[in-house]
Amino acid sequence: MQLPTLNFMRVNQRPEPQMVRGAGSYLFDQDGKRYLDFIQGWAVNCLGHSPAAIKRAIVAQLDQVMNVGPALYNQPALSLAARLCELSGLDRAFFANSGAEANEAAVKLCRKWAQKRRPGAFEVITTRDSFHGRTLAMTCATGKAGWDSAFPPRVEGFVKAPYGDVAAIASMLTDQTAAVMVEPIQGEAGAVTPPSGYLRELRALCDERGVLLVLDEVQTGIGRTGPLFAFEAEGVRPDLVTLGKGLGGGLPISALLATREASCFDDGDHGSTFGGNAVCCAAALAVLEVLTEPKGREAREESSRRLELALHRAGEFAGARLRGQGHLFGLVLPSNDAEKIRDRAFEQGLLLNAARPNVLRFMPALDVGQVEIDEMLALLLDVLAAVSQRRKECA
Ligand SMILES: *Cc1c(COP(=O)(O)O)cnc(C)c1O
Repeated sequence: MQLPTLNFMRVNQRPEPQMVRGAGSYLFDQDGKRYLDFIQGWAVNCLGHSPAAIKRAIVAQLDQVMNVGPALYNQPALSLAARLCELSGLDRAFFANSGAEANEAAVKLCRKWAQKRRPGAFEVITTRDSFHGRTLAMTCATGKAGWDSAFPPRVEGFVKAPYGDVAAIASMLTDQTAAVMVEPIQGEAGAVTPPSGYLRELRALCDERGVLLVLDEVQTGIGRTGPLFAFEAEGVRPDLVTLGKGLGGGLPISALLATREASCFDDGDHGSTFGGNAVCCAAALAVLEVLTEPKGREAREESSRRLELALHRAGEFAGARLRGQGHLFGLVLPSNDAEKIRDRAFEQGLLLNAARPNVLRFMPALDVGQVEIDEMLALLLDVLAAVSQRRKECA
């Protein structure tokens, strides 16, 4: 049955069908139509739709306790903090419910740290075309054109450098700078990958100038780009890391990880009513358990290679350039047809994201199999052919 949508506040454009069921790489709408999902809740469902491991963990936790609130400890939250610190090499974890909130916590912590260790500093250098979330402060931290002036007055304290350019950040770094905050790969910009050595050079710069390095791994973290954390690829240890999206495998949980030295909140400085909720933490523990099994890691690397190969073929067919890695890819088209391709793919039962007018983004489950990759490629080639045919007819 199709429900009325009138009371659902419109904040974006959505297609008419209503999703009622999901399994692995597939979604089903109210009429039973099947969709092959290469969006997965916006890079969130790292183990696909309704995976058994998460279901089991949630149900077991519900049998124990659902919610104890932020004034008391609960065991899943403590286990998750310990596990994330062990896996990341950082020392402290704070839990929130969304990526934007984790980034807010990070910026507050940077300002607090500066009050104590670098008096007069408060600015955070971010990058152009970055995405850090949709709270008032994060719209101003975000580097999308026009975002910091959309809801005036703007939140002060963010400076934008070009992405992938360490020298530019070095030239903007002043006594007022508290931290540098970047995504290891820019996700919302369409899987924009910096030159290799970027994080290493930023680490060296931040050390030399005595400011904090914050990595927004809300999209790149939890295996999305290959390693559990994207920073592992460059062997750096950031001062702060934020996680979200894939962390709960579909449940709302985010985290701020920090070194001991940077963790300087005083009691009462920060908090979150739902942060560290026992059920969401149990889900995140299940995600980490699956992702750290050695056998699963090999399978995911194989899945990534197959995905990259398929997207290369699509790219050759369309004259498009492929960028990204792991299970986060952008196909840069020679024309601004991304939305047309997305809409036509939707009709054909394939869910894709148009990250930019000329960029398609792919963020499937990390265990997406050869059958689904083959099906995606066949559907995508059909759609690319149809859209380019239409373009020729119209010319
Ligand atoms: C999605 C995203 C966010 C915002 O996360 P929300 O859960 O929507 O608040 C922040 N940073 C990056 C890099 C993201 O991809």
